Amino acid sequence: MKDFYDFNLKEHNTFGIDVKCRRFIEFESVDELLQIVNSLTDADKPLLVLGGGSNMLFTADYEGTVLHSAIKGHVAVQTDEGIMLRCGSGEVWDDIVSLCVSNRMYGAENLSLIPGDVGASAVQNIGAYGAEAKDIILKVEAVDLQTGKMCEFTNEECEYAYRKSKFKGEWRNRFVITYVTYKLSEVFCPCLDYGNIRAELEKRNIKVPTAEQLRNVIIDIRNEKLPDPKVEGNAGSFFMNPVVPKAKYEELVAWFGNVPHYSVDDNNEKIPAGWMIDQCGWKGKSLGKAGVHSRQALVLVNRGGAEGKDIVALCDAIKRDVKDKFGIDIVPEVNII
Ligand SMILES: Cc1cc2nc3c(=O)[nH]c(=O)nc-3n(C[C@H](O)[C@H](O)[C@H](O)COP(=O)(O)OP(=O)(O)OC[C@H]3O[C@@H](n4cnc5c(N)ncnc54)[C@H](O)[C@@H]3O)c2cc1C
Repeated sequence: MKDFYDFNLKEHNTFGIDVKCRRFIEFESVDELLQIVNSLTDADKPLLVLGGGSNMLFTADYEGTVLHSAIKGHVAVQTDEGIMLRCGSGEVWDDIVSLCVSNRMYGAENLSLIPGDVGASAVQNIGAYGAEAKDIILKVEAVDLQTGKMCEFTNEECEYAYRKSKFKGEWRNRFVITYVTYKLSEVFCPCLDYGNIRAELEKRNIKVPTAEQLRNVIIDIRNEKLPDPKVEGNAGSFFMNPVVPKAKYEELVAWFGNVPHYSVDDNNEKIPAGWMIDQCGWKGKSLGKAGVHSRQALVLVNRGGAEGKDIVALCDAIKRDVKDKFGIDIVPEVNII
């Protein structure tokens, strides 16, 4: 167990914001976590669970205790229904995807290279290239910070939706996830109809990809499209893509002509927030030390030495412009602390 006071979080958030927390505790097992939870006093509160910090924006020093999982390990069990892979919440998510692909456990490959840890995959319902964590999450184990007891949840109980879960909503800051069990398949059913996966495969003359080839293509596309947080601090997509009623979408088409969209259901359309931000002229622009990435308008970046409030000022300016131009409210995906 690690227990530090006045701890610097710069290396623990991918925006690279230079802030501190009053106390930082890292635990390596459920027993250690239970011991910590049952010894915390009101003076240690508030509490914040931090994974890899790749979806966090700190706007000030955190005047409380940060809990960080370093629970490692994974166990795979073959059953009639598939392979059940139980992973410690402190495992790096992409290490798990890599392990799955190399060991013929399929279902996670489209989520390759998403930064962060296993614990957060179940909070955030991470998603990319037509796949979401909810498609493979079977069970989530956690410790309840209110009762100090262990508990577990089925996929349904987590109420997953696009980038949402009960852990992000009603249960926010209540549970520390310790293990996540994923249900994977021994049969590889590639999902290729998203983004430019097929075009990339064609370029490489690959007709029927193996899981390794699909993972490599996704890694290359992501590396090409997204800034490396080690080079330019960022937290991936800053905003969620808004879902609007079909009538609103048709109004936008009447105003702007060709509007990119994905059909959610018969009555709703999802509009890419990045497209709207780009239409507002923000792509590649800066406001002080915060900026909008030049290849991907959905990604806000730390141009160097930015504070959380600089990123928030840029976020607010973008939200305002998108609202003025399109009449749509866009909402941050990033957790602003
Ligand atoms: C370059 C880049 C690209 C990205 N691309 C994608 C993408 O394609 N798709 C996508 O979905 N996301 C993407 N993200 C966002 C990010 O990778 C995910 O949200 C990820 O799941 C965050 O993991 P983390 O461990 O860093 O969590 P953190 O950012 O530390 O925390 C995120 C949330 O989870 C909670 N949390 C973390 N660990 C635990 C735990 N053990 N128990 C309880 N709560 C916990 C935190 O309190 C917080 O609310 C990207 C980020 C970056 C920087």
